[in-house]
Amino acid sequence: MQPSADLIDLRSDTVTRPTSQMRAAIAAAPVGDDQFAEDPTVNLLQERVAALLGKEAALWLPTGTMSNQVALRVLTRPGDEVIASRECHAVWHETGGSAANAGVQITEIGTGGVFTVEEFLAARKPRGHLVYPPTTLVEIENTHNRAGGVIFPQDEAERICAAAREHGVASYMDGARLWNVAMASGLSLPALAAPFDLVGVSLSKGLGAPGGSLLVGSRSLIDQCVRHRRMLGGAMRQVGIFAAAGLYALDHHFERLAQDHANARRIGERLAQSPRILLDLATVQTNILAFGLNPEAPDAAILVAQARERGVLIFAFGPRTVRAVTHLDVSAAQCERAAEILVALAEGR
Ligand SMILES: *Cc1c(COP(=O)(O)O)cnc(C)c1O
Repeated sequence: MQPSADLIDLRSDTVTRPTSQMRAAIAAAPVGDDQFAEDPTVNLLQERVAALLGKEAALWLPTGTMSNQVALRVLTRPGDEVIASRECHAVWHETGGSAANAGVQITEIGTGGVFTVEEFLAARKPRGHLVYPPTTLVEIENTHNRAGGVIFPQDEAERICAAAREHGVASYMDGARLWNVAMASGLSLPALAAPFDLVGVSLSKGLGAPGGSLLVGSRSLIDQCVRHRRMLGGAMRQVGIFAAAGLYALDHHFERLAQDHANARRIGERLAQSPRILLDLATVQTNILAFGLNPEAPDAAILVAQARERGVLIFAFGPRTVRAVTHLDVSAAQCERAAEILVALAEGR
């Protein structure tokens, strides 16, 4: 059932609907068969995103999950080990795809969505060992979803990728929300992408497009991604329809991510005032809030149901943890109202 318009929907930044201007851009887009590389709008988007991130080439894929899965298949072999941040998307939110599609095992390390080069090196297993699975890929998630939209420290990412390269380990960044990182940190997209062999970015999160994700990297890696996209059934035809929305989003919805960050901050500051809500404001760096409930507050599932009755939609991450995400379809005033409602419910009012 579609939530009614007066609901304040903070479940995810994927709930946004295309604006009328975005729909106009979609309607006007020249399209062609993308499997013949003949969709001019897709080609334009791929060139633009490759240039934006300072890499040779980019490939459009229908979802960020498929980008992650294709990256695993290109950068690993079945039986390999991947080292990633704890509670990463590939482990928690892809229904076991990493094991089913790439046949890899993922070792989660670090805390709060980040890890250090020392933790990476301590977990890395060499190739050719009698019993260890070889570590062939390190993956970071930036921003980290389940840790509350936190930014991976760039100097640490650089050290990790340099150490990885030294040991013949490939590197991948799940940058579904890399746009938010650039906006919040002031670092350039090419600087953020530079340490990594492959980077995934999404158009359907804060940028507000109805779908689409891109893998970005060297020409030779992207050429390999084309085959795996097809193998997973993600090679489509006139997807200029989606790419047009992506181009529109890059032009019109990138700068405004700062508003989402300010709105998340607004909600966070109100929630943190309540003794019933466990939120470290230091984790509120972009557009996501992940918070816990103290023992006197209701369970997450109850809070979610009660909030819905009062017109606020949020998402239960666990029995006692909740996520709220700001985006272009919620205003500052709505975020303030939502925060008041969440605090009242946590406090049993
Ligand atoms: C949303 C998300 C993805 C991709 O999700 P899709 O819904 O498949 O587009 C990948 N990684 C992270 C960290 C995400 O938050």
